[in-house]
Amino acid sequence: MRFRKRSSNMQNYDVVVCGAGPSGAMAAAEAARSGLKVALLEKQFLPRHKTCGGGMPMVIQTVLQDLAPEAFVESDVTHMRHTWNFADSYLAPINPPGSGDPLRVTRRDRLSLWMVQRSIFDNALAERAAQSGAELRDGLAVRSLEIEPDGVTIRAEGVKTGSEFLAKARYVIGADGANGITVKSTNLRKDRAIAIAMEVEHPHHWGDGHVELRPDVAHLEYGAVKRGYGWIFPKADHLNVGAGLFRPDQKDARGGREIRLQLQKTIFDYMDALGVKYDRDALKFHAHPLPTWSGKEMLHEGRILLVGDAAGLINPLFGDGIFHAVKSGIIAAQCLSEDAADQYTDRIHDEFAANFDAALSLAKVFYQWTGVCYKYGVKYERATRIATQLLCGELLFTNMKERALRRLKRSVGANFFPAFNS
Ligand SMILES: Cc1cc2nc3c(=O)[nH]c(=O)nc-3n(C[C@H](O)[C@H](O)[C@H](O)COP(=O)(O)OP(=O)(O)OC[C@H]3O[C@@H](n4cnc5c(N)ncnc54)[C@H](O)[C@@H]3O)c2cc1C
Repeated sequence: MRFRKRSSNMQNYDVVVCGAGPSGAMAAAEAARSGLKVALLEKQFLPRHKTCGGGMPMVIQTVLQDLAPEAFVESDVTHMRHTWNFADSYLAPINPPGSGDPLRVTRRDRLSLWMVQRSIFDNALAERAAQSGAELRDGLAVRSLEIEPDGVTIRAEGVKTGSEFLAKARYVIGADGANGITVKSTNLRKDRAIAIAMEVEHPHHWGDGHVELRPDVAHLEYGAVKRGYGWIFPKADHLNVGAGLFRPDQKDARGGREIRLQLQKTIFDYMDALGVKYDRDALKFHAHPLPTWSGKEMLHEGRILLVGDAAGLINPLFGDGIFHAVKSGIIAAQCLSEDAADQYTDRIHDEFAANFDAALSLAKVFYQWTGVCYKYGVKYERATRIATQLLCGELLFTNMKERALRRLKRSVGANFFPAFNS
């Protein structure tokens, strides 16, 4: 347990970061390294479970810098096994021979996906922030933010002790995720697109079950969840099995019982299909909302900057958010250290908007005609490589959107996507 303050004396900071997930921990580290006085507040005690698949492109190392991969990477995925209704399987390498692409942004030949346990990964990032000079205070929940002309007053409470923490900061970085309090203290993000996903972690002995259950293979299932997909991600000694509804429609009550049952069923069916033995009653399901990108909007208001999930920076096609959370945390800290808070939204838009807009256009097509896209897109021999390049940022959605849609149209007939014009 870390130092917790019992009195309510006002503490002064340049920056208070609310939430120690990847976005907050990276923001705190970067801001502290630039010489700002930073507090990083986390309501849970670290290390803590975070509902997540824990998959990320290995190029994240370029921004994690001094954090050694050995400290958190559990498996290095080089293959994806795609299925439609748990059949029609297609095992594809991420790095097929001769996998050059004229449109890619950089020239990195071997790509892979890293699988982590979020409890370990997030704790390593938070420790790194503390080593960089940020005051890390876990078990301290932010309860209110009062925005004043010269700063923000933050009231937080020790979740076990009930002790009060009172601070004044020139700026607050809202890194408190999908359900955070920071955004509620502002007029930002009133109209949010929310997806939902669920996962279980299941101990696994390599060699048991389906022959393609391997530490280097990520499994993806597209037919079982309407407007979403299921996954099995390999970790060191367990599997992360999950399912998400990434484009809920009007009828889908947010996180409602029916959706949860559908996601749970997909998880059971996936484990059955791959011969994973489990005790149905012992499985612990975790569900959580995913705020996905839905277009440009303001992400700062006065002295408050939103990052990561709090800013809705989840890719609307793939549902990944860790890499974007980390990048946005760094951008927020850079804006503050350069005294350029008012440029924050523009810099986030420069980094993400065009690419996420293109991903959103593809998501609309993919989740409406998933079966067609599976047959002519996912099973296309280079699709797994391309998807990984997109996850890595080596290839931009903006550069391949038209090409992908042309290919689908060619495959199924020019008039198949009449609604698609953007
Ligand atoms: C089931 C599921 C699977 C996913 N799989 C993947 C995947 O494989 N790859 C990927 O890239 N993305 C995945 N995501 C998305 C990913 O988890 C998020 O995009 C990512 O965690 C965002 O990081 P963040 O730092 O913005 O927020 P979070 O990781 O949510 O961190 C927010 C932190 O703020 C803290 N907090 C909240 N309120 C307060 C408060 N009042 N005071 C103090 N602290 C507070 C929370 O306790 C938490 O630690 C998945 C999401 C779900 C739900």
